[in-house]
Amino acid sequence: MISESVAEKSSVTPRVESKLDPAHALHREVIPAGEPWVHEIARGQRLRIVDLDGNQAVDTLFYNAHDYSDRYSAQDTIRQQANIYLTTGTKLISTAGQTLLTIVADTCGRHDTLGGACSNESNMVRYAIETRHMHACRSSFLKAVVEWDHGMSKRDITSNINFFMNVPVTAEGKLTFEDGISEPGKYVELRAEIDVLALISNCPQLNNPCNAYNPTPIEVLIWAAEP
Ligand SMILES: [Zn+2]
Repeated sequence: MISESVAEKSSVTPRVESKLDPAHALHREVIPAGEPWVHEIARGQRLRIVDLDGNQAVDTLFYNAHDYSDRYSAQDTIRQQANIYLTTGTKLISTAGQTLLTIVADTCGRHDTLGGACSNESNMVRYAIETRHMHACRSSFLKAVVEWDHGMSKRDITSNINFFMNVPVTAEGKLTFEDGISEPGKYVELRAEIDVLALISNCPQLNNPCNAYNPTPIEVLIWAAEP
């Protein structure tokens, strides 16, 4: 059952559009529903993630590209901006206290970093034992880092961002998973402040209203650093 939330759609922060032209992107790639993606983003480059069909959850981890032990920290990011939701202006802070990336445009308006990534174990606890064999973000992350083959392992899969996911917190502090607030074509754009490694699991979840029970493809675009 979904609880009533304090934060209604109307209270979501204003959308900020990007001026960058997809025709000038260095790299464009569609990530199919349920698939992972690993890519280095150099300092100054911009990464846009597009929710092609709407209501998709994009589970994402970022690392310092030169030291994977220095990675995205949900706790430091929340404390630094004194807000639990991520949107334009949010600086993604690492465990060592550096800014990895800054969100520079956002036409969705809110992204979650509290809900965590789905796993086979959490699916069985939250939904049904029969979900055991369904694909989940944690297994997608693990598959991706094994294939990336740069020495990363299970212990590198830590707290993540859920782009386009709506997890409002009630006045009593309860986490509520709601229908997504994203729509087809909504995007979030980030500027890398240092060289980073991006690790995405385009969530395969079939049991959560966040993606309308229907995983869909996303597109990623990367632009060169501005001179
Ligand atoms: Zn997931």
